[in-house]
Amino acid sequence: MVLHTRAAAPFHKNGYLLDCGGSRDAVLLDPGDEVRELLEIARAEGLAIRQILLTHAHMDHVSGVAEARRATGAPVVVHEADLFLYESAVEQGAFFGYRLEAPPPPDAVYASGQIFTPGTCTIRVLHTPGHSPGGVCLAVTDREHEDEPLQVFSGDTLFANSIGRTDLPGGDYDTLITSIRTVLFALDAAAVVYPGHGPSTTIGAERRSNPFLRP
Ligand SMILES: [Zn+2]
Ligand SMILES: [Zn+2]
Repeated sequence: MVLHTRAAAPFHKNGYLLDCGGSRDAVLLDPGDEVRELLEIARAEGLAIRQILLTHAHMDHVSGVAEARRATGAPVVVHEADLFLYESAVEQGAFFGYRLEAPPPPDAVYASGQIFTPGTCTIRVLHTPGHSPGGVCLAVTDREHEDEPLQVFSGDTLFANSIGRTDLPGGDYDTLITSIRTVLFALDAAAVVYPGHGPSTTIGAERRSNPFLRP
């Protein structure tokens, strides 16, 4: 698997394009204001985007969904408990003085424990509420490179040395801490974490030194 990351002002939210191997299948995660750059990479590399997967539906994570959906025809999938956010993306933007194109209705909601298998990737959906009720993390392995560490796309649940805010609608601090401790910290220490904002980290590093999660 090859990972492409881009982030654009003003929110510097990470958008991720996963190239899932020889079949040229790819997945787009959380397309936002950087969506054109990621679509251009997909075009240049001859990738077919099979799914548009959302970690949650805050507007900085969905502002590029309409364009991605139009360009690729790929299904958009979001957690059911974040539909109220998904459907109010334009209003969320207006609250921050920001205009965005309304995302199209989602094509599906995640089933409990759902697994996607584009190319040689296996993508497991982990429900990690707290930052938002329908927040998920996406845990990815490559079936042709099983020696490589797990890659976890953590949205705004867990950041390097920080955690997501819980003061937005549907957020809950204790729920977020429980999600991180019981779901994410149960993963392998070597698992690489790719957050929705900022640099990557590992599960082991966050277990040891994240100030919000001291034992
Ligand atoms: Zn968020
Ligand atoms: Zn965010």
